[in-house]
Amino acid sequence: MNKKTIADLRGDELEGRRVVVRVDYNVPLDDHGKITDDTRIRATLPTLDALLQQGARVVLLAHFGRPKGKPVPEMSLRPAGERLAELMEGRGVHFVPDTTGREAHGAVSMLRNGEAVLLENTRYLPGEEKNDSALSEEMAALGDVYVNDAFGAAHRAHASTAGIARVMRAQGKPAVAGLLMARELEFLGGVVETPARPFVAIIGGAKISGKIDVIRALLPKVDHLVIGGAMANTFFRAMGLATGTSLVEEDRVELARELLAEAGGKLLLPADCVVTDRLEAGAQAATVDREAIPAGRMVADVGPRTVEAYGTVVRAARTVLWNGPMGVFEIPAFAAGTRGVAEAVADATDAGATTVVGGGDSAAAVTEMGLDDRISHVSTGGGASLEFLEGRELPGVAALSDREEGQ
Ligand code: ADP
Ligand code: MG
Repeated sequence: MNKKTIADLRGDELEGRRVVVRVDYNVPLDDHGKITDDTRIRATLPTLDALLQQGARVVLLAHFGRPKGKPVPEMSLRPAGERLAELMEGRGVHFVPDTTGREAHGAVSMLRNGEAVLLENTRYLPGEEKNDSALSEEMAALGDVYVNDAFGAAHRAHASTAGIARVMRAQGKPAVAGLLMARELEFLGGVVETPARPFVAIIGGAKISGKIDVIRALLPKVDHLVIGGAMANTFFRAMGLATGTSLVEEDRVELARELLAEAGGKLLLPADCVVTDRLEAGAQAATVDREAIPAGRMVADVGPRTVEAYGTVVRAARTVLWNGPMGVFEIPAFAAGTRGVAEAVADATDAGATTVVGGGDSAAAVTEMGLDDRISHVSTGGGASLEFLEGRELPGVAALSDREEGQ
């Protein structure tokens, strides 16, 4: 990676300094406002520990939900702040219900070395998503150093991700990547740039349209591209197969046909499928060959022969990249395909392969299945990891200071 990280900062650049750290605390909540998965908060602890241990005064900025530029009480970062305080086990972290106003500045000026504050939702401010320069300057005034550890928000050019970094660098202040950001870029960059072979990509999920650019970018680089999820149906249609009432993107059938021609033998499609009449718990399920999808039935998962074939390819890989579940894994009757592939990826990791899972739902699936610690890296960024894999520049990364040549 050609961007500076906190490891490139000297002790005197951190001790007693106000360090603004952009984190991604956009965590899922249940109906009662309780956090159901704190992975993203936990993932920032290495960066926070490193900064606090060196005596930094940490100012955390984050967004939550889509309040569209005004305060929405249900989208407060307070629950994230409370969870962070629990995870930090009593070390000084507190939440301030203000972002760039007097209360925020007051709290920041009261910080002692080794203490942190989490400020309120950046998206409460209308300038955030506009990457407004006045707001960027207000945010920059909160710190002496900027650290971006919010990989999941790095594909957005917002005031707290891009604008603030630009302003601080113009003021001669460092703007560097946090440890999580660096790890994300190292793993995602490593698999696509210098993969050990065979390199197998597994792409699934609901829609071909959202992932077409990733498929196109990966095809020349991979040895095998394994397809699952509803997007397989669009390929089936391109092959002239019947798909019943399955989710198919009619306007992408031609595109799927082109991809099949381009891919040669690299593209693997399901040989059998689990079909049902409705995507609900308790619905009837049957396994059929892909040539025999009945009228009035929809594909909800890949079948057992497919799991076996994909498992063989994945277990033989030395690099695996997985984005998108194989079926409607939220419903137990249609989770076997995703589970089977997840187990194959975990086995590949155990056998020495580098394995990376990107995509919000795929990450949730491997975590739910208890397999996340047998994956080399589970990305915290859904949209950001997709855009990175498409080969696009992430504005939040581009805005950071470059490493000097030869360093
Ligand atoms: P990720 O977040 O990992 O990138 P996506 O958002 O692209 O994944 O897709 C996940 C969704 O795809 C899940 O909600 C899952 O239920 C759905 N899905 C997978 N297979 C099918 C299918 N055969 N029919 C309908 N939906 C599917
Ligand atoms: Mg998703």
